[in-house]
Amino acid sequence: MRAAEFVVAPRLPALFVADLHLTDKRPQTTVAFFDFLSGPAQQAGSVFILGDLFEYWAGDDDTGSAFNRSVCEALSATVAAGTAIYFMPGNRDLLAGKGFADASGVQLLADMASIRFEARTLLLSHGDELCTDDHDYQAYRLQVRNREWQAGFLTQPLEMRRSFIEKIRDQSEAAKVGKCAEIMDVNADAVVNLLRSHGYPTLIHGHTHRPARHAYLIDGHRCERYVLSDWHGHAVWLDFDGIEFNPRSSIQTPS
Ligand code: MN
Repeated sequence: MRAAEFVVAPRLPALFVADLHLTDKRPQTTVAFFDFLSGPAQQAGSVFILGDLFEYWAGDDDTGSAFNRSVCEALSATVAAGTAIYFMPGNRDLLAGKGFADASGVQLLADMASIRFEARTLLLSHGDELCTDDHDYQAYRLQVRNREWQAGFLTQPLEMRRSFIEKIRDQSEAAKVGKCAEIMDVNADAVVNLLRSHGYPTLIHGHTHRPARHAYLIDGHRCERYVLSDWHGHAVWLDFDGIEFNPRSSIQTPS
């Protein structure tokens, strides 16, 4: 297990989001993200986007499209207002790199990343690496995360890359229908091994679209795993004040 990248004590409260899958085809979710950025995010100290911010990202030369530009500008305005925004690519936007960071003002994070706060250490990941039961997916994941494969892919014209990614996405959606739910979730042993090898932190990840808080007792240490929700037309995030986690949503629940 490789070492996690470290971020030392970002400002609190820290908000965690993942799996927004932003696309111009889902304007309600895009509006929810812009409202999140100009509201809760600006009142927070830091925001961590743990992958799949975009439905797909075909390369940093894709910052030119009107939609991607509008997202980068909204991120940039929130950073300018004083909130640090960290971005860890997911499987859908793993090609979002330095060009995206320059256009949006976000700070790139490797998967995995570790953040130290006084009271606890958080381990952050997109989460797909933990879905080890899905062998087909893991083989695909290794291929597309290979630097040489990426360099070759990026030499293709943007339009070709876009249509290739759309085809892969459709195939993956079709394959999901035939796979049992357990195979697409994280592997329990992979989670325990990860927590053990990183000193029993609190793990936060997305990808599986199964929002939950899981508690573990590993080698006598209490650990937690928070799974972030995907977004469907409204904002969903996890708020961390340095001590406690609180799930939040832009939908008002009647009291
Ligand atoms: Mn994902």
